[in-house]
Amino acid sequence: MSLLELFDKWVIERGSAKVQEKHIALFRDQLSQAEAKNYVIESENKSLKSQLVEAEIENENLKKKMNEIEKAVHSGNLLSLQFGVYWDNDGNVYCPKCKAPGMQIKWATYVNQQVNALKCSCADTLYVLMENGVPIHAQEAMKRMAR
Ligand SMILES: [Zn+2]
Repeated sequence: MSLLELFDKWVIERGSAKVQEKHIALFRDQLSQAEAKNYVIESENKSLKSQLVEAEIENENLKKKMNEIEKAVHSGNLLSLQFGVYWDNDGNVYCPKCKAPGMQIKWATYVNQQVNALKCSCADTLYVLMENGVPIHAQEAMKRMAR
């Protein structure tokens, strides 16, 4: 039974014109208070919904940023320079020019000796790896960096 039905029942049971008038006024007052409360709740709900949408957008942007940072960390920021090329913590080699992975081992001539150098697809340059001014084979450098 709703509040209104309960009220009607009460009015019928005890109803006099005076009682009806008094209680209808009271009922109206309570109804308008309930409506005011409902209005506040609805506007709060609306505000919360828009905050949720904003938070979802922000979360999506943060995810994108996080992805970019992870990529940057993987491809550049945490690389260290050794033997004239870049290396990550797993011992993978990266191009000193474009910092991309996947360099190829190629024979190169250094002064009068043949040495395994590294070449990236970004340029024709052969990178002869050097240790204390002496060329070192790319495979040897990779073996050391893998440790
Ligand atoms: Zn490159």
